Amino acid sequence: MAQIIDGKALSKEIRLELTEEVAQMKEEQGIVPGLAVVLVGEDPASTVYVRNKEKACGEVGMYSEVYRLPKETSEEDVLLLISKLNEDSKIHGILVQLPVPDHIDESKVLNNIDPKKDVDGFHPVNVGKLFSGEDAFVPCTPLGVMEMLHRNNVEIKGKEAVIIGRSNIVGKPMAALLLQEHATVTICHSRTADLKAHAKNADILVVATGRANMVTGDMVKPGATVIDVGINRVDDVLVGDVNFEEAKEVAGLITPVPGGVGPMTITMLLKNTLKAAKIS
Ligand code: NAD
Repeated sequence: MAQIIDGKALSKEIRLELTEEVAQMKEEQGIVPGLAVVLVGEDPASTVYVRNKEKACGEVGMYSEVYRLPKETSEEDVLLLISKLNEDSKIHGILVQLPVPDHIDESKVLNNIDPKKDVDGFHPVNVGKLFSGEDAFVPCTPLGVMEMLHRNNVEIKGKEAVIIGRSNIVGKPMAALLLQEHATVTICHSRTADLKAHAKNADILVVATGRANMVTGDMVKPGATVIDVGINRVDDVLVGDVNFEEAKEVAGLITPVPGGVGPMTITMLLKNTLKAAKIS
């Protein structure tokens, strides 16, 4: 039976470390790391995410500002706000909560964030740096997965890593990070011909598809590390993309949903904000 990676406990441990670092920065340099979060519209899930981000900042002693803009806000006004935040010395990190309403061009907004304040790691400059192996802001979810692997002493070098899902937010940056640490990386997606054969070959299997319970026990290599990024609501219960009950019988290490990757994501946002404050 697999050992379960407790993302909540790990997250708590890292937030304590961050709290100390923030206090030290304040004392030694008089700098309080600051995050600005921009939310356009009232999407219920986004509203909850933004509230959690604001709360998390407060808990580790960081400064935060949240801009809750009505859904009909023009693209021009959002861009103006970003320019202002780019110049604001109290703000080290800027995050625009996605998705934005249809009349706003998402990439235009993201491309206008100063890459040095791009704590979500979505700006093309940071994406390019990540893929060429330079120091960059890395998207929070894959960064959190790496932290989970490291803190559980999972060997990466020379291992077969298979990622199911090729989104810009999870799958692609995940591949870059694992490659950087010398894994042999395979990226699978909805048009992959024989998903099971690839998955079964993985020493490290990262699943980010948004398809509830799609990875079954017979797709997992005995002893593999299984990281489930998926968050799906089925009959009002949160489940991952991995059939946890089946996979835990085969895997060596596995993350649960909820309480796995989820809590790590906001923690990595805090870590990126501290990094941005250091850069400034
Ligand atoms: P996305 O919809 O942008 O991408 C999904 C990917 O999965 C696509 O590349 C697609 O090709 C692939 N896919 C879909 N069905 C497939 C199938 N049957 N077989 C193989 N590949 C398939 O999603 P995303 O933004 O990467 O998010 C994926 C999941 O992770 C969602 O459930 C999302 O809620 C969750 N998520 C969680 C966190 C977190 O903090 N834990 C963060 C981001 C996303």
